[in-house]
Amino acid sequence: MFDGDFWRQAPALTVTELADLLFPCHCLLCEQALSQPFHAPLYCEPCRLQITTPLDGACYRCGIRLPFRIAGEHDVPLVTRHQTLRGCPDCRRKKWAFDRTVAVASYEGRWREHVYRLKRPHHSADAFQAGKLLGERLLECEWWTDYQMLVPLPVHWRRRFIRGFNQAEKIAEGIATVLPLPIATRALVADRYARKQGTLAASARLINVQNTMKLGPDASMLRQQQVILVDDVLTTGATVNVAARLCRQAGTKRVAVAVVARAGRF
Ligand SMILES: [Zn+2]
Ligand SMILES: [Zn+2]
Repeated sequence: MFDGDFWRQAPALTVTELADLLFPCHCLLCEQALSQPFHAPLYCEPCRLQITTPLDGACYRCGIRLPFRIAGEHDVPLVTRHQTLRGCPDCRRKKWAFDRTVAVASYEGRWREHVYRLKRPHHSADAFQAGKLLGERLLECEWWTDYQMLVPLPVHWRRRFIRGFNQAEKIAEGIATVLPLPIATRALVADRYARKQGTLAASARLINVQNTMKLGPDASMLRQQQVILVDDVLTTGATVNVAARLCRQAGTKRVAVAVVARAGRF
């Protein structure tokens, strides 16, 4: 058997390094083998660079991707910095109950396929990984330190039963591995079973989301706080706006929105 010297000479492995060795990871978008720490989001660097929208290339208020022109090797926003800070033309017309939005990427291409998949039954691990990426995205934004809580959007128990989990909760759990913020899962609760938003036109979505959620048993936690609402996709903003309005009713000072994907572009 091995004597004492063998063990002294053997390289010391941390638990994380051992896990990397036993369970090699692959990028969830291109399936390429990853050589990054075990706890990092499972997306390779080229995929990340390809999908993510530059922070100054999106409307600060609703997160929509703004138009770009190609100048040399770099994308340059067509809008000026001043216009970005005022919000896109749509945001200047609308009265949102939330102050700002951050998204990992536009809801298109491979990211769209991935985000669509993370809502399906038995794909909670994908939602968790996308949440980690969103956490890193929030870390890039200096403002996240002003917020005290993550509030995942609730889903109706019927949908949760079919899916086996609430994807917004799983995304929030992923964010919480990067940012030290508590998750308030019962501050907002689902009230009425709504049809899937994706199948409806914009005007019908507004009606569809009314009365779909209400303040939950932990709503008092929202009082005097600044909270980040968490969801998977922001399309018209109708659903998060209902949630943000409820938070305001409960006494929340400021509401930000964090989503893994923002649908649409100018
Ligand atoms: Zn990749
Ligand atoms: Zn906007």
